Amino acid sequence: RAKALRSGGACFYQAEMDASVRVRRRLAEDLRGALAMGQLRLFYQPQVELATGRRTVHEALMRWRHPMRGFVSPAEFIPLAEESGLILTLGEWALRTACAAAAADPRMGRVAVNLSPLQFMQPGLPQAIATILAETGLPPGRLELEITESTLMQDQDRATVMVGQIRALGVQVAMDDFGTGYSSLGTLRAFSFDKIKLDRSFLREIGSSRQAMTILRAVLAIGQGLGVPVLAEGVETEEQRALLRAEGCAEAQGYLFGEPLPPEELGLRGSAAA
Ligand code: C2E
Ligand code: MG
Ligand code: MG
Ligand code: MG
Repeated sequence: RAKALRSGGACFYQAEMDASVRVRRRLAEDLRGALAMGQLRLFYQPQVELATGRRTVHEALMRWRHPMRGFVSPAEFIPLAEESGLILTLGEWALRTACAAAAADPRMGRVAVNLSPLQFMQPGLPQAIATILAETGLPPGRLELEITESTLMQDQDRATVMVGQIRALGVQVAMDDFGTGYSSLGTLRAFSFDKIKLDRSFLREIGSSRQAMTILRAVLAIGQGLGVPVLAEGVETEEQRALLRAEGCAEAQGYLFGEPLPPEELGLRGSAAA
């Protein structure tokens, strides 16, 4: 009986797998037309200076409104775009759109854009960034690019050159989701960053786990020693904010300070910008 159940379970599992492969394939096809159909947008989420509450940076986060499925999470569609290579088109669009939005409104402060691994490995990337900055008129110092550790690990030597070339443009480079990759400390030794963004999984556990607290303190100490500001991702509660301030963390991002919003709801585009 157990055996029958097991094989039945395996069958069911196989059918589910096929369905999910089909769903993914279908989504990937739909994504191809999404940009031209106007289904993609950038939302922006603030990063704040904890001491003052000042919004210094806004991070651009892609949103896809699928005609049948509603909003599809970037955690779902960015990997699809990465697999098909479509991310190169989407990424360039995001960069240009974010730079144009920031150039149009100085109150946006700096704008942060996420770079995917495939994008990051394009030899022409620094030139493409320079062109977009020139076309939109955004000063390089107002652009920040976020990359993850896995992006850097694919080819460390090339990655070192790329980070150097991007920073030589005067653009800032932030390490995103720090602590989730394979080589956190090695990454810090091999690359120069302008910011370390500590992954939100640490903050989520900080109330309940001594390890998370210890790691937070250690990362803050490393940042201080290297002269690189540390930003805590995923701040949702007053307690977390107070704790971060007490520990000397300089910057934070999370729902407590603001969710990602479309530019017209940020209260940025007003009379002063017009
Ligand atoms: P990320 O760059 O680490 O962005 C932070 C994610 O955490 C965002 O999810 C944001 O909405 C979410 N978040 C912010 N504050 C909180 C909080 O307090 N609590 C919780 N639970 N979540 C919070 P989102 O927008 O769904 O994006 C997911 C990921 O998709 C991003 O992670 C990034 O890796 C990728 N992504 C988004 N837009 C782009 C893009 O334009 N290009 C590329 N290459 N990747 C993108
Ligand atoms: Mg990011
Ligand atoms: Mg992150
Ligand atoms: Mg992330």
